[in-house]
Amino acid sequence: MTVPLTEAAGGAGADPGGVLDDVRGFVESEIAPHAEEWDQNERLPPKLLTRIGELGLWAPFLPAGLGGAGMTWATLGRVHEEIGRGCSSVRSFLTVHTMVTWTVQRWGTDGQRERWLPRLATGELLGAFCLTEPDSGSDASAAGTVAERVASGWVINGEKKWMTAGQVAGLLLVFCRTEGNMSAFLVPADTPGVEITPITGVMGTRASMLARIVLRDVNVGPDALVGPPGWAAATVMTGALDLGRYSVACGSVGILQACLDACVAYTSRRTVRDGRLSELQLIRRKISDMVVSGRAARLLCAEAGRLKDADDPATIMATWVAKYHASTAASAAASDAVQIHGANGFSAAYPAARLYRDAKVAEVIEGSTELQQLTIAEEAYREVAR
Ligand SMILES: Cc1cc2nc3c(=O)[nH]c(=O)nc-3n(C[C@H](O)[C@H](O)[C@H](O)COP(=O)(O)OP(=O)(O)OC[C@H]3O[C@@H](n4cnc5c(N)ncnc54)[C@H](O)[C@@H]3O)c2cc1C
Repeated sequence: MTVPLTEAAGGAGADPGGVLDDVRGFVESEIAPHAEEWDQNERLPPKLLTRIGELGLWAPFLPAGLGGAGMTWATLGRVHEEIGRGCSSVRSFLTVHTMVTWTVQRWGTDGQRERWLPRLATGELLGAFCLTEPDSGSDASAAGTVAERVASGWVINGEKKWMTAGQVAGLLLVFCRTEGNMSAFLVPADTPGVEITPITGVMGTRASMLARIVLRDVNVGPDALVGPPGWAAATVMTGALDLGRYSVACGSVGILQACLDACVAYTSRRTVRDGRLSELQLIRRKISDMVVSGRAARLLCAEAGRLKDADDPATIMATWVAKYHASTAASAAASDAVQIHGANGFSAAYPAARLYRDAKVAEVIEGSTELQQLTIAEEAYREVAR
């Protein structure tokens, strides 16, 4: 059962070709029923990854003729919301893979597009976005991985940590310093010197198959570099992180929806001394908060998506705002969901515990809550000073 937060908020007509209906059906039948099992096993099944390719979701912005889905940003947002409603680990895979695919599509050379996009579009090749390091996260400018120019191209040395899909990705988008500035490289995961170690036992998005990736004297050709050297900070990094932030914001709306659905279903059945939970005012207040914060989050995401489709730079700040509200509201709703479920909220037999753990991840990745608070306030002061 899905409790309508509001249909129109995503933008009427935001579903050309009915892709959203297909994705909803896919989530209902092939994702949501298995999310707890994947969370416990800490992995996603290969069959699922193939199905995502069949729906064209690995390369949402590529035209259908090239194996993509030819989506608008608005539709992408609703798709990632739906996937996030079913399983945040699947949404995480889609987030980072889309960041890599879009980077190749947008900033790659013809040769890079021809070499990588067809297999990225089917999911035969998965992408990992490799920016964070053991000693640098929020402050990406402190990253220490280095690429040195040699006669045959570049040699990369460094260590990346917390790579979503890193255990199964075939193509790594690795951010390195080149002569002091940030550059992005496309590195096949089977290149000699690349060492991938799974990270297990994480709290949330447990099936997102995280990895630590050490690069030791990794030789790549000149064709591995995306754009000119030293050019990635203001382009690839900013653009891809904006995409990731939008995807996580929309996925957080999905978490809010899942919390609401689970809580309405549970409280409609469960009876305590004072009656059915659904009749109790203190419970109803929590349900109201989920409805209101969910609607607001979806509207903020829709605004960010609309501005992206219009190529309006205001989308960058709209996306920060959407991500801040959606991820913190999802955390609050998931905390209430656990509370409403009582002891059952701690059990894998109900989705509340997983939603709670996954919502917390959304507050850390793609710009943490604190960075959003700083960035949004900074913009507010800048606006007032104008
Ligand atoms: C499940 C998961 C998946 C991930 N997937 C990827 C991935 O695919 N690719 C990738 O590159 N990275 C990935 N990451 C890493 C993620 O991007 C970083 O965790 C994030 O950027 C925060 O960095 P950090 O963990 O080093 O925290 P830190 O930067 O050390 O921050 C620690 C705390 O301090 C706060 N803080 C930092 N600076 C300030 C400030 N100026 N003022 C106030 N507070 C501040 C932060 O908000 C945070 O609460 C993933 C992380 C997780 C948990």
